[in-house]
Amino acid sequence: MAANIIDGKAISAAVKEKVRDEIAHEGLKVELAVVIVGDDPASRVYVNNKKKACEFCGIKSYEYALPEETTQEALLELVDTLNADANVNGILVQLPLPKHLDEKAVIERISPNKDVDAFHESNVGRIMIGNYSFLPCTPAGCMELIHSTGVEVSGKECVVIGRSNIVGKPMAMLLLHENGTVTICHSRTHDLAEVCRRADILVAAVGRPNFVTVDMVKPGAVVIDVGINRLDNGKLCGDVKFDEVSEVAGWITPVPGGVGPMTIAMLMRNTVTAAKIQK
Ligand code: NDP
Repeated sequence: MAANIIDGKAISAAVKEKVRDEIAHEGLKVELAVVIVGDDPASRVYVNNKKKACEFCGIKSYEYALPEETTQEALLELVDTLNADANVNGILVQLPLPKHLDEKAVIERISPNKDVDAFHESNVGRIMIGNYSFLPCTPAGCMELIHSTGVEVSGKECVVIGRSNIVGKPMAMLLLHENGTVTICHSRTHDLAEVCRRADILVAAVGRPNFVTVDMVKPGAVVIDVGINRLDNGKLCGDVKFDEVSEVAGWITPVPGGVGPMTIAMLMRNTVTAAKIQK
């Protein structure tokens, strides 16, 4: 039987509407600074989508588009200025940065209570111990998508493929917070297919098109596809071979229209949270 499709577009629209209503009802003044360095086309698309979401929600967004050759000092100076500006509630530095810039140092410079991506070390640490104000947008969005299925995480076998600091590791932590039995896989994992087949909830964050094939999926599983890969023909595709996996999974996210829009909706939510904390 074909899987139920988890409609990330509809679920993200509902989250954004809620954020918009909250801002309107509480008369909040919310501002997000979006910093983009260089002219990476994918980053430009993400930034434009984030700005559009801000407009929908009633969040003022200011873009700081810096040239590719921007120095580390100039970028840190901008972050300092935004940190000091009481009108700015959230600061988002679009990643990846050009190679000559030190991403880690830039993230660490953002004031933790304006770090709406939740990438700062102190926010990452707070996620570990379960005492957080912000959750990183993509894993938080994945959790919302899982919740939308009605499948309880508690006690379930959860497998996350990928261990990056921005997706895989925090994703595993959020599943653990909800009492999942969590396994994290990576490029050194032995018998990956066998490990994945155990999963009631399978999250793929690998960055390789069509990596998860039908033989890796337990019938009825919830499959969350974080991957965004651009094929030679210009089309976007996820990490999961959708056509065949959707024949056995119980629930599956499409790409596009799954995790991507949720990431942006969670950014809106984090920005409002930041504004409230600062107030
Ligand atoms: P990274 O490249 O940082 O991490 C990829 C992970 O996949 C690594 O942990 C790597 O293992 C693992 N991996 C690579 N090859 C294999 C393999 N053959 N077998 C098992 N594991 C493997 O990527 P990100 O976490 O940043 O992103 C993952 C994907 O998600 C990308 O497609 C990205 O574009 C997408 N993405 C989507 C977002 C959204 O909003 N939808 C947001 C952020 C990312 P190892 O650590 O051993 O190298």
